[in-house]
Amino acid sequence: MRYVTFSSGGAAVPGVIEKDAVHPLVGPASLTGFIGLSRERRAAVEIGPGLALESVRLSAPVRPAKNVFCVGRNYLGHAEEIARAQNRPLDLPKVPAFFTKAPSAIADPGQTLHLSGAVSCEYDWEAELAVVIGERCKDVEQERALDVVFGYTCLCDVTARDLQRAHQQWFKGKSLDETCPIGPWIVEAADIPDPQALDIALTINGVTKQSSNTQQMIFSVASIIAHLSRGMTLEPGDVIATGTPDGVGMARTPPEFLQDGDRIEVEIQQIGVLRNAVALTPPA
Ligand code: MG
Repeated sequence: MRYVTFSSGGAAVPGVIEKDAVHPLVGPASLTGFIGLSRERRAAVEIGPGLALESVRLSAPVRPAKNVFCVGRNYLGHAEEIARAQNRPLDLPKVPAFFTKAPSAIADPGQTLHLSGAVSCEYDWEAELAVVIGERCKDVEQERALDVVFGYTCLCDVTARDLQRAHQQWFKGKSLDETCPIGPWIVEAADIPDPQALDIALTINGVTKQSSNTQQMIFSVASIIAHLSRGMTLEPGDVIATGTPDGVGMARTPPEFLQDGDRIEVEIQQIGVLRNAVALTPPA
């Protein structure tokens, strides 16, 4: 099952895709509201009449009230390329390197990302598998961690590398407006029993820049949830971006960054493709 937030002339509402039609979920005001229901109540929610998928506008499936949780350096190939680019020895994290992106950075699938060349001249791409939490939980044991997942979606952790470096703490360089496109839909967890066996790729203008598999994660989705929930409550609709594979722009020779007019596609097996164009204004 695929869940969306969509609009068709009016306000955005939660929905579910069946074949090529989107059906509104009757009752919940938002997809986050739906996710927050018990499993029994979710199963009892009725659906309205279908609209053709091509005829509706999809929004970010969820817009969490709090920051998007992220994991840095979670693929071996990416940890290696960063060490190489920074001319440092490879020092793999022993626990997940958590940081966050402000919720105001969230952007819709299909939308143009308006980036300011006056703010940064090093916007980089990071394709990521995003996990959407399905229940209020804390101290989740790794063995049952996948049980608290509502579903999975695609995310691009667009990063202003110059700001990330300048401010040392990553938050600023990770949180600029429109730097966290997510979607186009959430595939429910039951349809992806093994999140560690998904091909993940990113193209810029049709040229492959990242191509890997979630099997290459250093910390699995279950391990990330176990670490993150230790002593800290996770809530329905919380989003965790699980790290990016190798092939980011800053580690290329020479380094590459997003340009005005670029088309970004993040594709994850069993989920789909998240597409966004870039509108980058010139430096002031
Ligand atoms: Mg990232």
